[in-house]
Amino acid sequence: MSEVSRRDFMALSGLAAGGAVWAGCTPTNNDQADTASSGKADQVVTNGNIYTIDDTAPRSQAFAVKNGRFFAVGSNSDINNLIGPGTQVIDATGMTVVPGFIDAHNHPFYSGTKHLKQVNLDIRTIEGIKSALAERAQNTPPGQWVEGFLYDDTKLEDGRPITRADIDAAVPDHPVSITHRGGHTGVYNSRAFALAGITSDTPDPEGGKFYKENGELTGRVAEKAKDPLESLIPSGTTREERAESIRLIGGLMAKAGLTSIHETGGGTENLVAYQDAQESGELHFRIYLFSSGGTSGIAGPQLFDGLKQAGIRSGFGDEWVKIGGVKYGADGSASERTMAMSTPYVGRPRDYGILTMSQDEIYAAVEDAVRHGFQIGIHANGDLAIEMCLNAFERSQANMPQADPRFRLEHCSLVNDDLLRRIKDVGAIPTPFYTYVHYHGNKWGEYGADKMEWMFAHRRFLDYDIPVAGASDYPPGPFEVMMGIQSMVTRTDMQGREWGASQKISVQEALRICTINGARAAFEEGSKGSITAGKLADYVILSDDPHTTDPFAIKEIQVIRTVVGGRTTHEA
Ligand SMILES: [Zn+2]
Repeated sequence: MSEVSRRDFMALSGLAAGGAVWAGCTPTNNDQADTASSGKADQVVTNGNIYTIDDTAPRSQAFAVKNGRFFAVGSNSDINNLIGPGTQVIDATGMTVVPGFIDAHNHPFYSGTKHLKQVNLDIRTIEGIKSALAERAQNTPPGQWVEGFLYDDTKLEDGRPITRADIDAAVPDHPVSITHRGGHTGVYNSRAFALAGITSDTPDPEGGKFYKENGELTGRVAEKAKDPLESLIPSGTTREERAESIRLIGGLMAKAGLTSIHETGGGTENLVAYQDAQESGELHFRIYLFSSGGTSGIAGPQLFDGLKQAGIRSGFGDEWVKIGGVKYGADGSASERTMAMSTPYVGRPRDYGILTMSQDEIYAAVEDAVRHGFQIGIHANGDLAIEMCLNAFERSQANMPQADPRFRLEHCSLVNDDLLRRIKDVGAIPTPFYTYVHYHGNKWGEYGADKMEWMFAHRRFLDYDIPVAGASDYPPGPFEVMMGIQSMVTRTDMQGREWGASQKISVQEALRICTINGARAAFEEGSKGSITAGKLADYVILSDDPHTTDPFAIKEIQVIRTVVGGRTTHEA
């Protein structure tokens, strides 16, 4: 899991003057053939307002790229010397250039297949949702499922959520599954419940809930209670469709400036799809793939079991497709108001949220991961779930100490001083949502103003010197990084309400969170996260400088160009 240090790269860089020391480990193209042995650059960027995120030289004007890596960083005149006949010259015309963005918690495979196959329910009225579902049902053979995604009850103009009866009225003859944007709850019609044999008398399973009103199913189902319904839906994608999904989602992510993504939970199909996309030259981001652990993740545990059996550990792979850690989920969701807290939700004095793992299960998961050489990431939103994870991380360090474990607390939404101290001491890395404050403002009232000073607490993590990483959790949160930066800097939602003002951070801090800290969360700070000679040539050109833009307009900044390993993946 260790990476070659920066100093080693610098040394290599000197030794290799004129040589192509990395030619064997990076994809080459025809342009590079011309410059490979000449000592000239494959690509240069000049006239840039460059924020390197490298403390030894934070600002620069130009850089050169060779064999997919930064080759030199400096002034225009330094870099001009490296331009040869085969060099691609990109004139940044004074625009801002930053390292490629890293999203440390995202679900591109899952969302890509949904974009390809399902009904997009990012719609603001129940009538609108009903007609979108009805239209799809008309083109779906009877008996087959109609599936919708990106549903969000808090954004409906109707002021109430969609129900089983609403869906029955629109689609009586097909089973319907609507997935909430957050992924932890769904809404189903009567046809779907009948197929699963679920009635108003069916008891709630442990770690799940069938919501009822006046004794009748409302249609809403949470967490593990979804399993008997979801297991009836054929996944139904071919290998070609999965490759198409990766192309589709890759284009969307590149447009947001993302160059690396940690996919937090996946199986063999994900890995195959990424390798297929890599082979055909259509992979637009580097992927650090967490395999799903446990039984009710997005994918089953087959990949993780197979990797363990083969003796493969975190860090296996190459700079495009890499085996990350193992991912578990210990509680509910922040956006769907089901996360497990030590204090109740506003207006629901007996509702403390839902735990989806017991303390013993968490102990066992951490021990198993560490024993098999895996980094572990556990989804833990509420303070209660976070504490249970820390108990396990601390026990693991006591019994099987690792020098640098980088246990990950996925989301780590609600903290307190005691948890922050323990996170720092055990060397854990939180990956809180970067767009949530801005995008999901309608939900924060159910937590209350006081709690919001401790939620998505980027300021507190930095004050405790905890290397917090940036994360969208798409689809639950938008992945647009500029919106993420605006959200972390302003703590203001789309309606102009401020939530947790004490947690505001600077633009520079937000940029670090979305670059070098993301790299660190995958043990990759030696090869990514800053514009530094020797690192992978992943960078983004922005239309405006977020440092000097009105903080409330940062999300309007356009990504002009996204480059991964010297290859342009997006151009405005
Ligand atoms: Zn997630």
